[in-house]
Amino acid sequence: MADNFDVKLDNKTYIPDPSYQANSALGDYKKAYAEFLSDPDGFWAGKARELDWIKPWDKVKEWNWPNARWFCGGKLNISANCLDRHVKNGRRNKLALIWKGEQGKEEIYTYRQLYRAVMRFANALKKLGVQKGDRICLYMPLVPEHIIAMLACARIGAVHSIVYAGFGAEALHARIRDAQAKIVITADVGVRRGKLIPLRSIVDDAVKNSPSVEKIVVLSRERCPVELYSEMEVDFYAIQEGVSDECPPEEMDSEDPLFILYTSGTTGQPKGIVHTTGGYLVGAHYTCKYIFDLKENDVHWCTADPGWITGHSYIVYGPLSVGATVLITETTPDYPDPGIWWSLIEEFGVTVFYTAPTAIRMFMKVGEQWPDKYNLSSLRIIGSVGEPLNPEAFEWYYRVIGRNRCPILDTWWQTETGMHMITTPLGQPMKPGFAGVPIPGVVADVVDKEGNPVPARQGGLLVIKEPWPSMMRTVYNNPDRYKQYWNQIKNWYTVGDLAVKDEDGYIMVLGRSDDIIIVAGHNLGTAEVESALVSHEAVAEAAVIGVPDDVKGQAVKAFVILRQGYEPSQKLVSELTYHVRMTIGPIAMPSGIEFMDKLPKTRSGKIMRRVLKAKEMGVDPGDISTLEE
Ligand code: ATP
Ligand code: MG
Repeated sequence: MADNFDVKLDNKTYIPDPSYQANSALGDYKKAYAEFLSDPDGFWAGKARELDWIKPWDKVKEWNWPNARWFCGGKLNISANCLDRHVKNGRRNKLALIWKGEQGKEEIYTYRQLYRAVMRFANALKKLGVQKGDRICLYMPLVPEHIIAMLACARIGAVHSIVYAGFGAEALHARIRDAQAKIVITADVGVRRGKLIPLRSIVDDAVKNSPSVEKIVVLSRERCPVELYSEMEVDFYAIQEGVSDECPPEEMDSEDPLFILYTSGTTGQPKGIVHTTGGYLVGAHYTCKYIFDLKENDVHWCTADPGWITGHSYIVYGPLSVGATVLITETTPDYPDPGIWWSLIEEFGVTVFYTAPTAIRMFMKVGEQWPDKYNLSSLRIIGSVGEPLNPEAFEWYYRVIGRNRCPILDTWWQTETGMHMITTPLGQPMKPGFAGVPIPGVVADVVDKEGNPVPARQGGLLVIKEPWPSMMRTVYNNPDRYKQYWNQIKNWYTVGDLAVKDEDGYIMVLGRSDDIIIVAGHNLGTAEVESALVSHEAVAEAAVIGVPDDVKGQAVKAFVILRQGYEPSQKLVSELTYHVRMTIGPIAMPSGIEFMDKLPKTRSGKIMRRVLKAKEMGVDPGDISTLEE
């Protein structure tokens, strides 16, 4: 990294209605943060006490760099916290889960129905020989049985490893082998844009040469027994016949592993991140209740898939532990038309909506006539996660979806962190382009390579200085990789992202440190240049990379998707180049702009700049198992 890293920051702010803070569980952010700082362990113990423990912990944390243990000696079960707690506390007939499929298909589960379904399936897994600590791979469409299977694993202490059902056989195989999964749970088909996607045949390929796999559980979407092809296969519902629907939760140690989850693979080979039970639950519950302000009468819709950390923490474990109603849907955002998501918000009265910049930019591209057709007045809070939310996309989201009323929570976090780390807590002024501030419980900073804090408005590396309960415990089969996160700068957790802080301590994520572009000794984060491009009326989405340049070392090359109604032209190239020059300055001016219909993305919707770069340079792109088709 070069030393010079000035960032041009916009000072626009949006002030949320004071009622948001007044009615929030967090209350005043600064006060809550000060409380945390004055007694970090006491702060986290207070949050943990809101949950059900079979046996309380002896010690809040043990920090033995780089290894942390949280709520040491505590015993609990996460499924009991998501289900039994509500069933016992008068919420048994409350809606836990609403599922919406394509063509108007719908299923609902009350908390009691979900509780019983989970216990039945948990008993069925036991009958198959599953024991505490066994790894179970889930490769399932977004249907209620997916969530039932997750919670059933947690109930009996099996470790789930979910693989997004959009991955191919090779990627699935690699993950099954890495985790040494004993059982694979799948469905006959997934549904996408009116088409049936065969999943079982992919699993059949993936389990070849995977000696750890003993059984494949197949869900038939039509609820009639599936035709079984091999002795390894069993039917999801047939194995539940005759089993009891009473299954007491397994007593789990706070530090027993809960799941393994592979990262998105945006910057390289995916890492198998391991999370444990107690600390993870505390993090997911705390952030849902105090940061997302989720209340039990909320209808929460997170558009992620359970195959990503966002789905783990904010479809399943967080919202259910709070007792909210969770909407899940198998629908694609633009099928049968780009109004489908907004129609679901209207239909189910969604109050908290959480999506990703890639979706927001897609909706910007097709135009606001789609959301304008629907009544979105039930929405209270809207969120974003996954990539930097460009200021232009923030403004659009705020105005068109939030109707100039709903606060936006742009949440920065990672598979590794398990929970939100940086965002703008309710009631605080929002600044487009800035994720926000470290939430109470998190100590984050922007520093240089040596760990010295950088002055405001100068870019640097994002680090987390103190352990937190839902931090990953290791990288599966790769303890050295785990250590690397902690030994790059002092003894802090190095995130791998570039960021900048303003005078108020607001943090803007500038992109991945791997993707940094150094032009004539100046560091440029990708997000800054991309946001400048997206702020032009013709541009829906942009990706930039650094290409070799004889004079400047590197120059910026841009790839751009246009909004509907705009055509590529030389004139537009000049206009966009000039626009970047005026927004950031001459150093950021692209030396080339290419118009694209699509950008290479991970299946979780993140731009893979390394693929663009490899193509540009004519070199091997490395691991592209997570690349979207
Ligand atoms: P890999 O680590 O395999 O390259 P990945 O980092 O994309 O994949 P995830 O854990 O899904 O895997 O994503 C975390 C990353 O996503 C963060 O490090 C950050 O770069 C980006 N990110 C997530 N949320 C935000 C946000 N609100 N603003 C900016 N960037 C974000
Ligand atoms: Mg990462």
